[in-house]
Order: sequence, then structure tokens, then C-alpha cells
Amino acid sequence: MDPRGTKRGAEKTEVAEPRNKLPRPAPSLPTDPALYSGPFPFYRRPSELGCFSLDAQRQYHGDARALRYYSPPPTNGPGPNFDLRDGYPDRYQPRDEEVQERLDHLLCWLLEHRGRLEGGPGWLAEAIVTWRGHLTKLLTTPYERQEGWQLAASRFQGTLYLSEVETQNARAQRLARPPLLRELMYMGYKFEQYMCADKPGSSPDPSGEVNTNVAFCSVLRSRLGSHPLLFSGEVDCTDPQTPSTQPPTCYVELKTSKEMHSPGQWRSFYRHKLLKWWAQSFLPGVPNVVAGFRNPEGFVSSLKTFPTMKMFDYVRNDRDGWNPSVCMNFCAAFLSFAQSTVVQDDPRLVHLFSWEPGGPVTVSVHRDAPYAFLPIWYVEAMTQDFPSPPKTPSPK
Ligand code: GDP
Ligand code: MG
Repeated sequence: MDPRGTKRGAEKTEVAEPRNKLPRPAPSLPTDPALYSGPFPFYRRPSELGCFSLDAQRQYHGDARALRYYSPPPTNGPGPNFDLRDGYPDRYQPRDEEVQERLDHLLCWLLEHRGRLEGGPGWLAEAIVTWRGHLTKLLTTPYERQEGWQLAASRFQGTLYLSEVETQNARAQRLARPPLLRELMYMGYKFEQYMCADKPGSSPDPSGEVNTNVAFCSVLRSRLGSHPLLFSGEVDCTDPQTPSTQPPTCYVELKTSKEMHSPGQWRSFYRHKLLKWWAQSFLPGVPNVVAGFRNPEGFVSSLKTFPTMKMFDYVRNDRDGWNPSVCMNFCAAFLSFAQSTVVQDDPRLVHLFSWEPGGPVTVSVHRDAPYAFLPIWYVEAMTQDFPSPPKTPSPK
């Protein structure tokens, strides 16, 4: 029970170390919800800085070509009857999950746009850059009892970059994923195909392939407390029926869930699933999540829209519910913890933040492979080049 290896009773015989050299306990961050209640912190209304698309070959394009259009079945008609298992596995082209993309596509966007970011010169140097999905995991951490996470952090030119590392547990589970779970994942994407059209005003075409390489990603700016944020998240579709609204307000998140039949099933859905749906859509300011409820045979016959800002209402009076303030206060505390831990500016240095349910967030330090994640092409372009100037003609 003496982690630092100093022998008990030896204190008096050894020369005391100078005060500032006394071994300090390794820093860590607790995650208990009770520690993070309190008022909701400042969260800047997210604004879209830009977007990009990934094609069927997972190639990057700096445009909205992969954006799809919300096209639900007519409300006066017979209602949906979507067979989510149709096309599985013959019309399924799943993304290769062995490829660790880390922040690469987001960095590609950032490299192209760094010279014309809003917020003024120096904004990026103060910011945190990451995926929306990583922030979602931070938001839900105080309530998570199943899955841990690891986040790699590097500081470069002032900016703090956060990139998830797949835990050993997650990797083992992915490699041993049961066939039924693989099919369930397909069904989630199939639902999107039934609900989205490729062009505004046209109808969904469920006869084609489901290719999960294709993605449309929105790049957003926000701020949590004192932490400026630049993050990107995959967006399922935009609603062309709300033409006056600008992104991210026009975006719609699509989800599937088991049909529920008892009040106990609904309660459990509000406590667990709605927390994840809220965290994912609140961060980028996506206002609505449309759920398709599937029966045991894999058919969706009912849809329900959950406004993101009303999700908390379902657990507001539930002792075992979740609280958005706890999620956001914990996230802010983690970002402060990370900012004060990662002091050295060095793209090859990684502070690895690790968390398992029941414990605190801990830190370890690494250099280069396998944890370093800022690619050489990014570091070199950012080091050598001047930021590309605004594309306006210079006055004579
Ligand atoms: P989400 O909120 O968890 O869906 O993740 P994001 O919206 O932040 O997605 C960030 C990037 O990661 C996008 O390019 C997604 O296509 C990709 N992505 C989404 N889910 C996964 C996943 O489970 N594994 C991996 N490796 N990438 C994913
Ligand atoms: Mg979705």
C-alpha cells in the first residue's frame, strides 16, 4: 500500500527532499454525478463553420455531396412498414473498422480553412479540436456503468487536440461482435435509407446498397464555459421543409429503438437511451431526433419525434434519471483537467486519459507510436505554411 515505494519509518533518517520535489499524487478526476450538480454552465449556441463529405470509398470531399434530405412517409397515408432487415447482408457494404482514422478528416477540413476561421486571429490556438462523438462520451460519463474510454490529447500551436483510442475491451468486443448485433447495426443504417432522399423533394430509394463509408459531417464552433470548441459530427439529414432555417437547426438525427409495451420499458428508455440521444444532438444543436420503433421481426411501424430540448422533461422528476447540468459540468471539468495537464506544446507527445466505470479519470504519458495521432502531413503544413489568406482580391 505504498505506491511510491518510500519505506515507512525512513522519513527521519533520509534527507528530506525540497518541498517542490515531494512526490505528488498522480492527478486524477472523479466522475461521481453528485460532484457535478449545480447550475448549467455556459454553452455557446453552436454555429456551423463548414462541412465535408466522405464518399463510398471513404474519400474526403470538402463539400456537402453526401448530405441527404429528410423524407418521412406521408402522415395521411398508411404509416410506415419498413423492413429493416431487407438487403442484409447482400446489399451491405460496411466501413472497415480496422482503419483507425483518428482526427484525420477533421484535420483535412481544418488545414483548408484555418486561414479564414471566424473568432479572429488566435482563436484556434485557444480552442479544443475533437469529434462530437468524443464529447458525447464525456457528457454521459457520470452516468455510464458499462463502457470505459480512452482519449489521447496533444497540444500543438496552442490548440488541444483530443482523439479517442479504442480500449482493449472495446476492440475485443468489436472483433467478437455477435451476428445479431451486426444485423442490428445494419438495421440502424437501413432506417436512414427509408427516411432519406438524395435530393430535396424526391423519395427514398430502399432498393440500393447500404454503404456506411458514406458520411456527411458538419463542422461546428461552440464554447463550454471558458473552453472554445471546434468539433465535427456526422449528420443524418437536413429537413427541406424548414427552408428558412440554417444549419444546424435544419438537421435531423435518425434513431431506431425496440418497440415498447410497458411503462417500465419506457422508463428505462428515458433513463438510458434518451440520455445518449440528448448528449449527441445537444452538442451540435440538432433540434430533433426522429425515432423508428422496431418490432422483434425488424419492422418499423411507428415513428416519434423527440425534440432535443424536451428530452430532459422525461426524467426531470425521476430519482434515477440524468441531469444535463451534471453532464455539461463534468465535461467542462474534464476539459479544464486536460488543459492543465497537457502543458507541453509537442505534436509527438500524448497524454492518455483513461476511464473505467466506478473509477476516476487517470493519465499516462507517451511519445510517438502508437498513441501520437497528429499526422506528419498536418504538422508539416501547419509548421511551414502561412495560413491561407481570405479568398478576397487584395486592393491595389
Ligand atoms: P458519433 O457521434 O459517435 O456518431 O460520431 P461523430 O458524429 O463524432 O463521427 C465522427 C467520425 O467518426 C465520422 O467520420 C463518422 O463517420 C465516424 N464514426 C462514427 N461512428 C464511428 C464508430 O463507431 N467507429 C469509428 N471508427 N468511426 C465512427
Ligand atoms: Mg443516426
